[in-house]
Amino acid sequence: MVTGLPTSGKSTRAEQLLAYLAERIAAHSDRTKYRLHLVSDETQSISRAVYDLSPAQLPAHVRSANASEKDARAAVYAAVKRVLSPRDIVVLDGLNYIKGWRYQLFCEAKNMSTPSAVLQIGCAIDRARAVNEARLERRKQNQEGQKQEEPAPVGTESEKAKDVEPYDPANWDNLVFRYEEPNPMTRWDSPLFTLIWEDDAEQTRQVFSQIWDAVAGEAKKVVRPNQ
Ligand code: ADP
Repeated sequence: MVTGLPTSGKSTRAEQLLAYLAERIAAHSDRTKYRLHLVSDETQSISRAVYDLSPAQLPAHVRSANASEKDARAAVYAAVKRVLSPRDIVVLDGLNYIKGWRYQLFCEAKNMSTPSAVLQIGCAIDRARAVNEARLERRKQNQEGQKQEEPAPVGTESEKAKDVEPYDPANWDNLVFRYEEPNPMTRWDSPLFTLIWEDDAEQTRQVFSQIWDAVAGEAKKVVRPNQ
């Protein structure tokens, strides 16, 4: 489970983790032992807007019902459940910001007798906000460009290519406010690994190697359903 603030670099690290795990599986004596899966809002075609609880966007009664986000979570849960097994490593890229939700996923893994781990992406709030603001700006320019029939995208090359959906600013602020930090003292948030924005390739590989050990290595600790 990857977790972190909105636009803090989660998908970037999830992609790097996938590539690393694929490498380890390829180097494994039994290459067929593990299969790799990515589940994310993007793979499930879930819009950022499902997290938007701002009263300006929705009528007041929807705030408590929070239906769109619940539906989105159900879709993600089903996607994980469909593939998760002791042979299937699932990288779940997403906000995963509710501790009760991480607990549910931990229990799902436990039911399958397969280990789980949490990777928290650490990023200064201002930097994460700047990423979202750049995406908002790019969307605005793209929309204006479309009107004038000359696109004027801003941002990094990879961002331009993907045209990543930004969060509405109030939605972004609210998600930061609602974020429930993982706590390594709890079973469902452990083992807990952390990568920060500045971590270089070497540090990143070290953390990924520890994640491999936790989920697939000799030291992997499986909590059985009856434990
Ligand atoms: P999230 O999945 O949390 O929304 P992304 O992974 O899409 O965030 O990252 C947002 C932007 O920040 C992307 O343009 C990405 O290239 C850039 N980025 C993410 N992590 C890093 C990093 N560690 N170093 C430099 N740029 C990064």
